[in-house]
Parts: sequence; structure tokens; C-alpha cells
Amino acid sequence: MTDLKSMTRPELEAYFKELGQPKFRAMQVFRWLHQGVESFDEMTNLPKPLREKLKEACVLTVPKVERKQVSQLDGTIKYLWRLGDGNCVETVLMRYKHGNTVCVSSQVGCNMGCVFCASTLGGKVRDLTPAEILDQVIFTEKDSGEAVSNIVMMGIGEPLDNFDHVLRFLTLVNDPDGLNIGMRHISLSTCGLVKKIDKLAQLGLQLTLSVSLHAPDDETRSKLMPVNRSVGVDTLMETCRRYFETTGRRISYEYAMVDGVNDSDEQADRLAKLLRGQPGHVNLIPLNEVAESPLAPSRRVRQFQQRLEGHGVTATVRRKLGGDIDASCGQLRRRRIMEREIHSPEEGST
Ligand code: SF4
Repeated sequence: MTDLKSMTRPELEAYFKELGQPKFRAMQVFRWLHQGVESFDEMTNLPKPLREKLKEACVLTVPKVERKQVSQLDGTIKYLWRLGDGNCVETVLMRYKHGNTVCVSSQVGCNMGCVFCASTLGGKVRDLTPAEILDQVIFTEKDSGEAVSNIVMMGIGEPLDNFDHVLRFLTLVNDPDGLNIGMRHISLSTCGLVKKIDKLAQLGLQLTLSVSLHAPDDETRSKLMPVNRSVGVDTLMETCRRYFETTGRRISYEYAMVDGVNDSDEQADRLAKLLRGQPGHVNLIPLNEVAESPLAPSRRVRQFQQRLEGHGVTATVRRKLGGDIDASCGQLRRRRIMEREIHSPEEGST
């Protein structure tokens, strides 16, 4: 079955040309798909025989709301979407003064194994298609009735481990005849896949790269993030420097504050030393409690921030949104898997 929604406009034009259709059909279908139609019958400006043909030959992805949590504190909405094959992914809609931001997933599960993360428990099931990533934005807008102006790729999965589909998603979401979300309004987060960071740099996109650093030394980082065991902090930082030199885009370093693990003054000093000579920004993240994890949130976030600032490093503390819902990445999906295992242990995990 052909996945029309994962196609760029030139690809759609080629597809409809092969069907013997005029060029404008591609634009009509592109617009319908990006508005979130749920059946080909909703494409009312297409001739009926063409709609019938598309129904037979093409798949139309329509995620269903499996669960939805709305924060009473700040209006954050967390969705658990059920995909066509029964797998689930999470999307979070966050409201900021500068507009609505949606945090999307790029994979079902994740292979990276970061110890503070619920998304990786159970590993990666599969990559999401470009359409499935795009659907999270389209259907969040549709369900919430809210326009989205910013996207962060920080949900379930490592985006650079699904490089081609993520790039295609970026092209689609950026299209002026689709959602038209500018690259400067998109952040992509990575745990530090250096070869892929170099590959991304060559494309010169104007998005913001967020690197999940979480520790300034190999010993601590390898404990928190297994990816560090093959490529250490020094190589990662050299890659980040190259990325900045190639793209001119300042990198945002994510740092989840874990009690007694990465929050000492010495580690703040080392972090400042690592960042010396490159324009970066540190985003300190108060850790969310994950029931299955022994890690506790740091009580030294402000001291750590002040220590960094004392060294001339720009550091902000991320505002905690959705504190009354399962706000951290992967928790909702994890909870659903566990409930399914309890109620029907013969089923697979997802
Ligand atoms: S933090 Fe990101 S890269 Fe690490 S395991 Fe979780 S989803 Fe994967």
C-alpha cells in the first residue's frame, strides 16, 4: 500500500502523473492530507473514481487517541496515540507565552538505554514513518483545536537513529502548503550520535540541535547513557564544535539533574570548561520521577546554575510543565504496556 502522506509534493506530482491525473491533483491531495482527513471520501474535490482508486492502493494513517491527560495546573496535554498496527506513541502539547509547542516521538520505544528514561524500557519496537511523525502534529492540532507554532523532537525515540524518516518529516512540516512550520521553530534532540550529527551539519538546516549531555565526564555519562561507552565526551564535544562551525547554529545542551550523580560543584566546573570557546546554552532539567528508576531529582539545581553562570555559561532551568500528569517521556506508553501485561500476559509488549 502506498503511503501518500509520507511523500513530498514533487513525489506526489510524479505519483499522480503516473495515474494519468493532472498536476493540480497532487496539490489538492497534499492539502487534504495535511489537514488531517480521516478517509479518502473527505477529499470532496477529487472525482469519485479517483477516490475509489486511492482507497484500494493507498494507506491513510489516522492515529486514535488511546489516552489523553490534561494538566489542571498549566493546560499541558499529553496524548497517547494508537497507530495503525496497535503500537502507541506519545505527544505532548505545551503552552508557552510565545505559542504552542508540540513534543513529538520519532520511534516506538528506543534502543539507546538512557537510565533515567522510561521510553527505553523494552527497547525499540520500530521506527515511525514520516507520516506517523507528522500525524502527531496534525492530529494534536485537530483534537485540541489549538494551532502549533513550535516543534521539539524530544519524545519517544532517538531522532537521528531514524534519520531519513525524520528528515522527510522536517521537509513535510516545513512546506508552505502544509503546516508551514519554519526550521527555526523546530528543535531536534539527540543523545549524541556523532556520525549522524556530522551528516545533519552538512544539510545546513536552520533548526536547533539539542544535545543531551547530562554529565561532563565519561565515567558519569557512561553510567547514565550507554551511548557514551563507544563515543566519549571529548569526541562528542569536538563534533558539536564542528556542527556549530558548519551551520552557525548555537547548540543547546540538555542536562537532567540527578541527585548525587551529576549535580556537584566540581561537575559544574568541568561542564563550564567543556563549553569554553563555543557559544552554547545549557538547559538544566529538573528530573521527573520514574517509578521504575532508582534515580532521584537533584536538590541543587539553582546552585548548579549559579556555579555555571559564575563561569560565564548561559544556563536556564526548564520550567516543569504538566507536573500533575505523567509528564516525562515514555511514562504513559510504559504504563499502558504494563496494564496490558497484567490484564493479558500472553500478548506481546506492544
Ligand atoms: S532519553 Fe531519548 S535517546 Fe535516551 S533512551 Fe530516552 S528516548 Fe532514547
